[in-house]
Amino acid sequence: MSDSAEQARKDEAAMRLALDQAQNAWLVGEVPVGAVIVREVDGVHQVVATGYNRPITTHDPTAHAEIVALRHAAQLLGNYRLPDCELYVTLEPCAMCAMALVHARFKRVVYAAADPKTGAAGSVIDLFAQRQLNHHTAVQGGVLADTCGQLLREFFAERRAQARRERNESSAAPAAPAAGAPETDYNIVEVIEMQDTMPGDLTDL
Ligand SMILES: [Zn+2]
Repeated sequence: MSDSAEQARKDEAAMRLALDQAQNAWLVGEVPVGAVIVREVDGVHQVVATGYNRPITTHDPTAHAEIVALRHAAQLLGNYRLPDCELYVTLEPCAMCAMALVHARFKRVVYAAADPKTGAAGSVIDLFAQRQLNHHTAVQGGVLADTCGQLLREFFAERRAQARRERNESSAAPAAPAAGAPETDYNIVEVIEMQDTMPGDLTDL
């Protein structure tokens, strides 16, 4: 097997592990994105850490798959820099994750599907191509892109179907506002009701 074919085989095997992590995210109700960090030691590829997207369940806006895996890897290896490591992630990293990976001196980042809304490896911006930054992490996209992108599309299709079902159920309920009622008033009532259900320690601020 040629070097490039061998590299492609390793990349695909690692991305399948990241895809398993993305499935874990879906199981807990998070957007299905998964990551895995590997390094080569004496010619053998080791899995150092895994992570999946969990900002909602952990109340942590920074808990993207890459950051979760990165923190595990840094703790395990006892180092804030991981120059021997490669990270595989099922969706193009955002700017926060891209910079965290550059700060950690990653050797290489491989992603599957492109993210046209927040991708920071070329879709919206390419932080990996900034020559002014002092460390350069190699980046490659498109490994298992269709499979990983399909998982995201299925997740959002299911979310939309669920939202439609909930809308239909609430419009059938007798408590729906009278026809012609100003929409702004209804929205204000909703906001007040949400504030009433906030935990006490937050409303005390
Ligand atoms: Zn991110």
